[in-house]
Amino acid sequence: MPKVIVAGSINTDVLTTMRRAPRPGETVSGETVAFGRGGKGLNQGIAAARQGVAVEFIGRVGRDAFGDQALAFLQANGVGTGGVHRTDTATGTAIVMVDAHAENSIVVIPAANGEVSAADLDAVAIAAGDILVSQFEIPRATIAEFFRRGRAAGATTVLNAAPALDDAPDSLWADIDILVVNETELGHFAGVDLASDAAADAVAAAARRLMRRPGQTVVATLGVRGALAVTAEDQVIVPGRKVKAVDTTGAGDCFVGAVAARLALGDTLPQAMGHANVAASIAVTRVGAGDAMPTGAEVLALLA
Ligand code: ADP
Repeated sequence: MPKVIVAGSINTDVLTTMRRAPRPGETVSGETVAFGRGGKGLNQGIAAARQGVAVEFIGRVGRDAFGDQALAFLQANGVGTGGVHRTDTATGTAIVMVDAHAENSIVVIPAANGEVSAADLDAVAIAAGDILVSQFEIPRATIAEFFRRGRAAGATTVLNAAPALDDAPDSLWADIDILVVNETELGHFAGVDLASDAAADAVAAAARRLMRRPGQTVVATLGVRGALAVTAEDQVIVPGRKVKAVDTTGAGDCFVGAVAARLALGDTLPQAMGHANVAASIAVTRVGAGDAMPTGAEVLALLA
């Protein structure tokens, strides 16, 4: 049975609420604090594992309490952590400050995630048919080597090009089989101004600008509007589900992890997108990122 291999980031999210965020040089008193499991890599690995597929993780955490907790969380969800190295650098951390107007200020410190190296990839053997998943929260050179090895081994490579910062080497873009981006990332990497209500044809045209070789697929996630996939010839649209969203953090991660899992389980891409769209619509009804990912049974119950 093919497996999902995620090379990606692991963060602890420190979520704080306060009446208003501090100005430079100022100290304010906060109201609540909570510690969540996050990082796009971890979120996607958990989302995939909860769909019932074997998942192996490649990443780094510090030799600190946050690192212990992240490893325990991955293992409790059945994710293989033989490829997660411990380092003297701290575990990646996101400090999220939410004020009384629900306005966010966020600092993300990559820390150990910034050290994930090509040599770390040796810990997990890639087999033909495996689904490789990564995001832009570990060094680009490591992702490029991961995908180069994956294509050589006959695996399928899935890149979630998030966050939308800088660009990546051409060799990396060419080694992607399935690229997943949200509307912001699509606009950034395609170099176009996309309105949030852009028509499907405009989204598809922008998505096609990201293709570097025949055989690539670009999936654009469109929030409440669902998702759209384009190949050179075809286009598939999965309409969004109407739900009461309470926290959309990690929605895209849930979608990517669930797509990867369903591809490993033998779905076609349109089938996998249908499943992932339902999974992500469940995730947005719950608070948190890694903690909010639904199980395969929860998704299948809604699809039945
Ligand atoms: P990101 O989290 O990366 O910004 P999106 O906002 O596009 O990504 O969301 C990813 C997926 O999550 C969407 O394709 C959709 O399936 C689902 N989703 C996101 N927001 C909602 C929502 N408010 N209601 C229902 N589904 C949603």
